[in-house]
Amino acid sequence: MINSVMSAIPNYFMSCIKWPDKTIEAVDRLRRAFLWKGDKKVKGGQCLVAWPTVTLNKEQGGLGIGDLRAHNLALLMRIGCRLLSDSSEPCFQWLRTQHMANEIPIKAKPTETPIWKTVCSVIEPIIASTKVTIGNGQLVQFWRDHWTAAGRFNLIYPTLASYATNINCTVSSQHTNGTWTIDLHPVLSSRAQTELQSLMDILLDQHIQQNVPDKRTLLLGSTDITTSANYNLLTYHGILWQPATLIWNKAIPNTCRIFLWLAFRDRLNTNANRVNKKWDSNPHCMSCPAIETANHIILRCKLAGEVWKKLNLYETAVRSSNIQDFVESILDTLPEHQKPGCPACFAACSHGLWKARNQLVFKLTETSVAYILHQIRESLQLWVHRLKPSLREHINTWADKLS
Ligand SMILES: [Zn+2]
Repeated sequence: MINSVMSAIPNYFMSCIKWPDKTIEAVDRLRRAFLWKGDKKVKGGQCLVAWPTVTLNKEQGGLGIGDLRAHNLALLMRIGCRLLSDSSEPCFQWLRTQHMANEIPIKAKPTETPIWKTVCSVIEPIIASTKVTIGNGQLVQFWRDHWTAAGRFNLIYPTLASYATNINCTVSSQHTNGTWTIDLHPVLSSRAQTELQSLMDILLDQHIQQNVPDKRTLLLGSTDITTSANYNLLTYHGILWQPATLIWNKAIPNTCRIFLWLAFRDRLNTNANRVNKKWDSNPHCMSCPAIETANHIILRCKLAGEVWKKLNLYETAVRSSNIQDFVESILDTLPEHQKPGCPACFAACSHGLWKARNQLVFKLTETSVAYILHQIRESLQLWVHRLKPSLREHINTWADKLS
């Protein structure tokens, strides 16, 4: 709902205007309140996970709710990419004529139009994330673009680059009448002289083709330059979150996935967390004297022990320091044919234990072992219909163990 409606509404304006921080923060406040409370306003303590974590993609540990700042930049980068390709639309031709005569600026002057300032602000990230197969060299920066196998000249030859008369110059502007003429300040240091010699050796192998347009592609990966490729690049944090593969399993319904996501992050409203938020003063479990955390409810409390005994996983549950450790230990020791159904079974058991805990806390009703096992089995038998018939046996094996 948040992604398909609340994040999609501003798409049109985001594709041509750079949104001010205050506007993005206002929309994020609405999205945050809708996610955590289903309302227009929410208090800090009711947001169970920090917003920057929520907006990470699922593999990196978030809920995959779009990061508006990155989305805005990714959409604008699409305009920038068309400007730096041979796109023939009149608006791009006009912008090139007005602002890109023998140079590709990365910073607009204060007196220039808001449209050009917006377009100009995305040229640097485009240059940084792409490489170019050189054609006529008219839409390629000589110093910053990655257009030879050697790499970016401003990084390989930093001293020489500091002598460039125009660091934003295009490749074509440095190539006249079939020869390379690099525009540099007249007196070079000895270091710059050495770098110039090395640069000229590389340029000997580079050939400009007047009638062929330059071709810009992503530096990493084989995908075309698209808004989603730009977005993934802008939001990539380099670290994958291990529990993601367990949570976003096809067999598990969405409500239970969100529960698992909060449980793996230890953000459920357990008594221990309620005390941390100063909502309560008693951090203990209602069934035993232990501190009530997600790990306690799912692994160690009385009812949990009975559930895991039924599945011959009691010893593993007691030994594990947390729920992630528990699932990983199970997956390490299980025979191959039982592994595919394990995440769904763990989800059904832990969600069942959480619901039993809530029954006790809010309705003062104790759930019997037989009833919780019956509930978990029923959930699994229902979830199985989410899968192709060929995959259902994996879950049924686990459901049968709970009989
Ligand atoms: Zn307990």
